[in-house]
Amino acid sequence: MNNPCGLYVHIPFCQSKCPYCDFFSRPFDCSEADNYVSHLICQMEIYGRLYAQKVFDTLYIGGGTPSVIGTDNLFRIVTAAKSNFRFLSSVEITVEMNPCSARKIDFEKLSQAGVNRISLGVQSADREELRLLGRIHSNDDVIHTVLQVRQAGIDNISMDIMVGIARQTIHSLQNSLDFCIDNGAEHISAYLLKIEPHTPYQKLASVLALPDEDGQADFYEYMQNYLSEKGYAQYEISNFSLSGRESRHNLKYWNCDEYLGIGVSAHSLMDGRRFYCPRNMQSFYNDMTVDDGEGATEQEYIMLRLRLRDGIVFEEYQNLFGKSLSVRCLKTAEKYSRYGLVNIQTDRISLTPKGFLLSNTLIADMLED
Ligand code: SF4
Repeated sequence: MNNPCGLYVHIPFCQSKCPYCDFFSRPFDCSEADNYVSHLICQMEIYGRLYAQKVFDTLYIGGGTPSVIGTDNLFRIVTAAKSNFRFLSSVEITVEMNPCSARKIDFEKLSQAGVNRISLGVQSADREELRLLGRIHSNDDVIHTVLQVRQAGIDNISMDIMVGIARQTIHSLQNSLDFCIDNGAEHISAYLLKIEPHTPYQKLASVLALPDEDGQADFYEYMQNYLSEKGYAQYEISNFSLSGRESRHNLKYWNCDEYLGIGVSAHSLMDGRRFYCPRNMQSFYNDMTVDDGEGATEQEYIMLRLRLRDGIVFEEYQNLFGKSLSVRCLKTAEKYSRYGLVNIQTDRISLTPKGFLLSNTLIADMLED
């Protein structure tokens, strides 16, 4: 795990709150956002000195909705990150955007700063589904944004899609996937809609007529097959990409590589420790972090690597932990391989596409000692 580190910057502002979302985010306020960015930059100066010996090769500005803070603030963040951390010249710089607020972004300026990847929250191409999700953009907003991004010379676009939305059908899911494909997405992240506690969706769950587990499984399997037919390889439970367009930043999380998170509610894994800034602005402005214990342990490694198509490579495991994968874990893998849920090869074990659907159960079982 001596690979270059990733830098994550969290922007906690959104135009409006989506009823299913439990991320830490607040309504956008211009002067609050300017102050927030100024404090992010102060923290970058401190962390930059602390980790002066580390090399980074990804920067990911996520949220929330980073595009609401506008071009100048995003430019300030990218420039400050580059002057405070040692980035490789091949750095991947991603900014998450909502298609609505992205309309006002000057992509030329971001591209000049080094931004080379955009992640767009498309969610669905169906107007009614978007309304039920509380999303305020239109398909035209997406098309317009993609055009602007490409004109600025940014050739790597990821689109988020939501699966298991109320009233979604296989047909409407296919339309949404086609919309992403037709608009040239190099990468598609597809998340199953989950009802999170304490969200407006939790109260509405009974009237929303969301698909049950079997229904969700049908959607998921359909999507896996459809995207595979269209040339998008599934490299992680929820992520699909054209060849060579995997998210280098997100791969760090599943590979147990080091990453530093800056901003309210951001998590980090550095020098074998996990730590995070609590979910409140006061903690952020007081530069507070909470230690979250040892990271990149054997258990974490198994749990995270099994999310990936590449799975657990025996030799790497041996090099990292000085021992082989336990017999108990291998026997469990063997049991599931008889049902076509786990792939056992000479050099590794991994979940099959069918196994991804049951990943929670399989991984929990393989971890049991
Ligand atoms: S835009 Fe994203 S982060 Fe903001 S409320 Fe909606 S889902 Fe949550």
